[in-house]
Amino acid sequence: MHCLICHQPLTEIITWSSLFTLSTQNDQPQICNQCNQKLEPITGEQCRICSRPFSKLEPKFRKQDLCYDCYNWERTSEWQGLLTQNTSIFNYNDFLKDLLAQFKFRGDHELVKIFTEPIQTKFKQMFDQKKPPIIIPVPLSIERQYERGFNQAQSLASLLSQQPIEEILERSHTEKQSKKKRSERLLTDSPFHLKADINPAQYKNKNFLIIDDIYTTGITLRQIAKVLQPLSPNSIKSLTLARS
Ligand SMILES: [Zn+2]
Ligand SMILES: [Zn+2]
Repeated sequence: MHCLICHQPLTEIITWSSLFTLSTQNDQPQICNQCNQKLEPITGEQCRICSRPFSKLEPKFRKQDLCYDCYNWERTSEWQGLLTQNTSIFNYNDFLKDLLAQFKFRGDHELVKIFTEPIQTKFKQMFDQKKPPIIIPVPLSIERQYERGFNQAQSLASLLSQQPIEEILERSHTEKQSKKKRSERLLTDSPFHLKADINPAQYKNKNFLIIDDIYTTGITLRQIAKVLQPLSPNSIKSLTLARS
């Protein structure tokens, strides 16, 4: 058996259960100890909304239990309270950056499987199993998906195999505009919209879980939350593999 990341023969069998104690699965793809140690799970005190670790943030960019970014989002009436909470699993270090590039741009689909256990474990921590959320992978525009051949957010969402995935959003291919005010631009230039044929009543008081690979600025997730808001959901959370 070989490590899925570096392809070295595996001498010592590692499972994610050493990192994620809730897990009971042993049949997941294996990675070697060295690669395992290069992944940095996010631990310790974090921003209440975006899960940014405070250990990596200068104190002046922290406002009580929020990072300064989330504090600013929450101060704006258009965005306040929209994204209930983002959970990220790993710090976006150089190792994970390379790994995601290999997965996303070089089309190494198999690699996604190494994240099965961490994603399933986090999911179980976030939701009551009796009330599973509606899972929404961040869509790519048709042009981008054609270019890349697959949608990485969808691949990650598919790791939550027992959960239904709903593709109720579409993304258009937009050009960036910079003249308007930032908050205005984020509203008017959102590339996301609900598909025309969905039945809004079906989503009332439900919990949504948006899935993406990286949380960087939080703009994408909040734009999606804005589009979902008219459906009157109970909560809109997100689960992202990495926090940059
Ligand atoms: Zn390895
Ligand atoms: Zn934050």
